Amino acid sequence: MTATTTTPNRVRSLPVLLATEDDAEDMGLLAPDDRLTCHVHGRWIHQCVASPAHVSPVTRHRWCRSCRTELAVAVDELSLTVAMSCPRCGHGGSAATTRLTAACRASLTAERAARQAA
Ligand SMILES: [Zn+2]
Ligand SMILES: [Zn+2]
Repeated sequence: MTATTTTPNRVRSLPVLLATEDDAEDMGLLAPDDRLTCHVHGRWIHQCVASPAHVSPVTRHRWCRSCRTELAVAVDELSLTVAMSCPRCGHGGSAATTRLTAACRASLTAERAARQAA
């Protein structure tokens, strides 16, 4: 029942997408977890996901519940891959983290497209 709309292949720069996502989120059209930009840091989500502000023990974003530890983030801009894992047990995944990882991959792709269009 997730209403994931297929985003049209339109290239948007960071400031434009940031504002668009702010509006869509305010209107309830976009879940905060699905954003490609971060309104706290004003960056692409993959660029600031390593910040402590993106750790949430409550929702389990970037959080290993068993170890009570922040997950480490590895972003590879060349291969467009993003991985998050617990430095203690090597796992620590959660539904929230899976979604955050997917958003980071999408933002990597969007950032590359925006860069190439510039
Ligand atoms: Zn951020
Ligand atoms: Zn762990």
